[in-house]
Amino acid sequence: MDVSYELYDVIVLGGGPAGLAAGIYAGRSRLKTLLIEKGMYGGQISMTNEIENYPGQLQEGESGASLIARMSEQVVKFGTETVQDIVKEVLLEGEIKQVICERATYKCKTLIIATGAFPRAIGCKGEGQFVGRGVSYCATCDANFFEGFDVYVVGGGDSAIEEAMYLSRFARKVTIIHRRDALRAAKSVQEKAFRNPKIAFLWDTVIEELHGEGLLSGMTVRNVKTNSLTQILADEKDGMFGVFGFTGNIPKSELFVGKLEMDEGYLVTNEDMHTNIPGVYAAGDVRKKSLRQVVTAVSDGAIAAIQAEKYLE
Ligand code: NAP
Repeated sequence: MDVSYELYDVIVLGGGPAGLAAGIYAGRSRLKTLLIEKGMYGGQISMTNEIENYPGQLQEGESGASLIARMSEQVVKFGTETVQDIVKEVLLEGEIKQVICERATYKCKTLIIATGAFPRAIGCKGEGQFVGRGVSYCATCDANFFEGFDVYVVGGGDSAIEEAMYLSRFARKVTIIHRRDALRAAKSVQEKAFRNPKIAFLWDTVIEELHGEGLLSGMTVRNVKTNSLTQILADEKDGMFGVFGFTGNIPKSELFVGKLEMDEGYLVTNEDMHTNIPGVYAAGDVRKKSLRQVVTAVSDGAIAAIQAEKYLE
């Protein structure tokens, strides 16, 4: 394995909104900064079709990906180095922290963890078997495969309702399956969904099992109040339907188990993004917080970078 002998002032883990904002602020403060991302920039927001509540965002149809493209250009503009690598281990003790990746080991004086979160599985039988064969977790990626077909969305939060509306542009009908009889999503988002003639609701319901030969063509759902089971089958002509899961997120924090303080997998910080180890900060969705939005992620990233600068001083 290569060892990078450069010592960075700041290493940022993750290229979502929190990590990019940290990269912008640290680079702009002339700190020697490296941003490590394993795949594409953007994290979960790059799968969002439309952003309409980011302050200043009035452009009709701005997608997560286009916003992220501009943020990542800004990172480079301010001199932050970027590398694509997969983190295997982090050594956080002592003044110099080490980030051991597949291709190299990187060293830094401060570390900003912005590793984000990933979608939670729906948790029904057969789910794994039908991923990519009817089951998806990304409307932007897969909606066009379901042009003219029936689609079911699982969940009742902002993601489920917003993505159901996007899917309704493609699908014949979108049915939202929610385990309660009230949505968690913001009221303004709910109102739009209730007005959409292509969106229906199956309340108090969970999916028990998905069926099909090759492609997803049937499922068993259960009413959680009555425990009654119902079979839902694809229209005969279609032979298949889609199920999109938007049941929340799981923090990407397994690298820090036993090393940093956590609460249900989320990294615990104070309001200045400090973890329990001096010089180590957490920002964005991986952090324990009450509001997970792009606007709070970028705010976390900015605060973490400025705190890193203060620590280095
Ligand atoms: P979320 O708010 O955690 O909602 C998850 C939904 O899935 C809830 O309705 C939950 O039901 C349901 N659920 C959880 N586990 C389930 C299971 N095993 N089976 C069936 N249903 C299950 O997640 P999210 O919608 O992905 O949003 C995550 C964060 O991003 C939130 O803070 C949200 O506000 C934010 N967000 C904001 C926007 C926006 O502002 N435009 C857009 C997307 C996301 P219960 O309600 O019964 O718990």
